[in-house]
Amino acid sequence: MKTLLTGGAGYIGSHTAVALLEAGHDVAIIDNFANSSPEAVKRVELITGRQVSLYEADCADKDRMMEILGKEQPDCIIHFAGLKAVGESVELPVEYYRNNIDSTLTLLECMKASGISRFVFSSSATVYGEDNTPPFTEDMPKGVCTNPYGWTKWMQEQILTDAQLAGCREKGGWKAPLSVVLLRYFNPVGAHESGLIGEDPQGIPNNLMPYISQVAVGRRDHLTVFGDDYDTPDGTCRRDYIHVMDLAEGHVKAAEYALGHEGAEVFNLGTGSPYSVLGMVEAFSRACGHQIPYEIGPRRAGDVQDSWADAGKAKRILGWEAKRGIDEICRDAWNWQSHNPKGYE
Ligand code: NAD
Ligand code: UDP
Repeated sequence: MKTLLTGGAGYIGSHTAVALLEAGHDVAIIDNFANSSPEAVKRVELITGRQVSLYEADCADKDRMMEILGKEQPDCIIHFAGLKAVGESVELPVEYYRNNIDSTLTLLECMKASGISRFVFSSSATVYGEDNTPPFTEDMPKGVCTNPYGWTKWMQEQILTDAQLAGCREKGGWKAPLSVVLLRYFNPVGAHESGLIGEDPQGIPNNLMPYISQVAVGRRDHLTVFGDDYDTPDGTCRRDYIHVMDLAEGHVKAAEYALGHEGAEVFNLGTGSPYSVLGMVEAFSRACGHQIPYEIGPRRAGDVQDSWADAGKAKRILGWEAKRGIDEICRDAWNWQSHNPKGYE
């Protein structure tokens, strides 16, 4: 299978490229490097010993997309490209809606014109909103998002579901029935076990694991824990942290599934086991061999107390489940961070 990864130089895309290549599939990548480096793709080639076709392009550039899709003729597109910083999306909502929604609409138009009909999309557990109670199942109603980034995921899911409905009707204009797989990620963390690729956030990390990793390596002096007065056993929020290589392998299964099925299917990609913020601090301290210093701060606006997956549907239908535990997650995150203290720089 030939797969085209938009945003494939980024954190999840680069790990998925490794998993696809190792499963024997071919990979082409489109990225505008808004939040990544071409170095990540070189390292994917180093890990796998395979070549990747790399295009520097913006997914919202219709002419370029037509040219690349025409040249590559992929069997399946996995659409990672997007802006993803929650806080920044509150400051720059127009830029977030423009980038994230435009790239999906442009890709759909180009796919339709090029006869490509298999699409896997990077969605997020954030679409469950604040009112559902975990474990989240795919049949729960989508909730109210707390920021523009979350709404872009919510809206892209809707656009893709509507396009799939039209794309399975004879008059939809699609040359082949459209197949859409919506993957709702929980909290992707960790790195490839080689330590050659990993998460490389620009500026001050927003997310817990890269922040802890930078404290561990001495780039920041302590972690601030956002609230210890939640209604949980240790008072801190709980999340479903999933090893990025487990997530990557979930994409291989999802792309293979998209090839053989029609329709729009939603899958959670999570472990089903929550960890608290303080639980993650302790696990990372074990992995790096010293205590991560932290202090308790106020709650962060927009945080939900609890979020974790019911991971049963992906296991039943895709035959996929997360295999790596919290100690492997922290070991691999530390291996990446300690060997690349400044990321790909
Ligand atoms: P990332 O920022 O590392 O990767 C996204 C990539 O897309 C980057 O390489 C960036 O340069 C590229 N990009 C952005 N806009 C583009 C455009 N218009 N054209 C071409 N390239 C563009 O992020 P990631 O963590 O790898 O996330 C991948 C996807 O998964 C994103 O859509 C993100 O919203 C989604 N997601 C991520 C998480 C997470 O915690 N990391 C959780 C849920 C969903
Ligand atoms: N968190 C924290 N300090 C930080 C970053 C995050 O205490 O510097 C907490 C955050 O409040 C949340 C959890 O860690 O409870 C996971 O946050 P992250 O941003 O990684 O994921 P999300 O909240 O988007 O699921």
